[in-house]
Amino acid sequence: MADRRGIPHIAVERCKGCGLCVSVCPEAVLSIDESRVNLKGYYPVTVESGESCIGCLSCALICPDVTFTIELLDDR
Ligand code: SF4
Ligand code: SF4
Repeated sequence: MADRRGIPHIAVERCKGCGLCVSVCPEAVLSIDESRVNLKGYYPVTVESGESCIGCLSCALICPDVTFTIELLDDR
């Protein structure tokens, strides 16, 4: 099966820091950024290792706040 790649884009100010996306990402791309607080007052999710994203869309599907846009790239 060909590899798929993706680039996660996050609307950080919508995030409520629930961590669901972090828990479902199979490649450990995401993490909660405890060094900042967003406008809602939460620690927001951040892209920790974007080069590992396989574009599976799990984060986008599980996020209750529609925070993700996943840019899908051509197969390698
Ligand atoms: S698309 Fe998949 S691999 Fe990429 S950040 Fe989201 S859950 Fe992780
Ligand atoms: S699932 Fe959505 S609201 Fe929850 S931490 Fe991830 S981006 Fe933020």
